[in-house]
Amino acid sequence: MSRLLALLLLFAVASLAAGPVYVVLWFDTEDYIEPSADDAALRIAADLRAEGVKATFKIVGEKARLLESRGRRDVIQALSQHAIGYHSNWHSVHPTPAEYLVTLNYLEGADEFERREGPGLADVKRILGADPVCYGQPGSSWGPQSNLALRRMGIPVYLDEGEQVGLNGQPFWYGGLLYVFGMGKNQFRARLDVGPEDSAANRRFDEAAARLGADGGGGISIYYHPTEFVTTEFWDGVNFARGANPDRGSWVKPKRRTAAESERCYGVLRRFVQHMKQRPGVRFVTPREILGLYESPLPGVLGRSAVAAQLRRSISFAQVNGEMLSPADMLLALLDMQPQVVDGPAAPAKTTYAQRTIPAAAFRLAALDAAAFIRRFGRLPNAVFVGAETVSLIDFAATLANAIEATGDVTLVHGNTGFEQYFATDGRKPFNWVIHPEGFDGTPLLALARLQGWTLKPARLGK
Ligand SMILES: [Zn+2]
Repeated sequence: MSRLLALLLLFAVASLAAGPVYVVLWFDTEDYIEPSADDAALRIAADLRAEGVKATFKIVGEKARLLESRGRRDVIQALSQHAIGYHSNWHSVHPTPAEYLVTLNYLEGADEFERREGPGLADVKRILGADPVCYGQPGSSWGPQSNLALRRMGIPVYLDEGEQVGLNGQPFWYGGLLYVFGMGKNQFRARLDVGPEDSAANRRFDEAAARLGADGGGGISIYYHPTEFVTTEFWDGVNFARGANPDRGSWVKPKRRTAAESERCYGVLRRFVQHMKQRPGVRFVTPREILGLYESPLPGVLGRSAVAAQLRRSISFAQVNGEMLSPADMLLALLDMQPQVVDGPAAPAKTTYAQRTIPAAAFRLAALDAAAFIRRFGRLPNAVFVGAETVSLIDFAATLANAIEATGDVTLVHGNTGFEQYFATDGRKPFNWVIHPEGFDGTPLLALARLQGWTLKPARLGK
């Protein structure tokens, strides 16, 4: 009896200590070809509201415009009861974001993303009457240049899935955005093709919630498309596959589910949601709520010597004196700058400086110039100058970390970055989307993405 009591007590303590589990449930609301997808969005929004669950509908610009022109105030009204996100202007009409970003550098790409996607965002804002807090790319059409553009567009959260970057299957800070992305085993769904309920998904959810709870808390990402509930093939796959770009008059509609089949699918989602929400400690959250749950990316006051010691070990994110720091945070601290959101370098650079030491005065000037560059442009320089010669950002950071404790002439140190492991290396597989041309190669996008690894660090749940 006493053993049972002890066991029960232990169980009670364990469940009290379990961290909170957050579920972000999102719907890419994108099909502007099959009108019954409008009804699906309406039905899902209403069902979830009846369950008391707030979801996120990431809306395509053209979808919003069509809801307006078809007079679907009912759908617009139902969606605006939930959180609204943005899901590109045209989704699968070519060129898609990765297609137009792949030949552009970081700054050109940000400008082009803003030029092409900005008007759709304005339409979603106007039609839905809400400011989207998150964006996610169509398919796997991702590019790092969108980070800078999204910050300019006032969107602070990146909510999607993809293999280009990821950090232990939990949210992270990257390019100044809170990324819910690459969630790995914390991203799954109840399948719509296994009968009235997917009990395997329920078990998977219970496992994930228990694991995250025991680990101090964490997030689970679940997504669908309203169109999946009324069609058996994707609206874009039947029109824009492998680079095809038929004109509007030739668009064809995807195959429909029967009404009974659609009912079954709505039931699958509803049962899955009912299962998830009855578990203690589980909370459905919107992107705005996620922002509030995680600590600000800007660190407090930092001890320069502890930061320098960390940077000497490796140029990668790390916890220093209780603060989670990106390499960019560390570099700013060593340059005596206020913490701020910055971009990584726009391009790789080489060290041409050939001597072993840099005169102290020359190095001081180089550091002042680096700080001036960051203040002016809001991004890290590719390299700093020592006279006519360059020291790459990586070598500059390593040299600066070493010089903090020293006096006199500065020894040039060649640095190593440790953040590459969080990025995909294969240019094809992460971009393999049926809409992209056959063999589309995103290698240049991944190279730019790794440079932005200077800004990468785990997001930490607030106390
Ligand atoms: Zn989509």
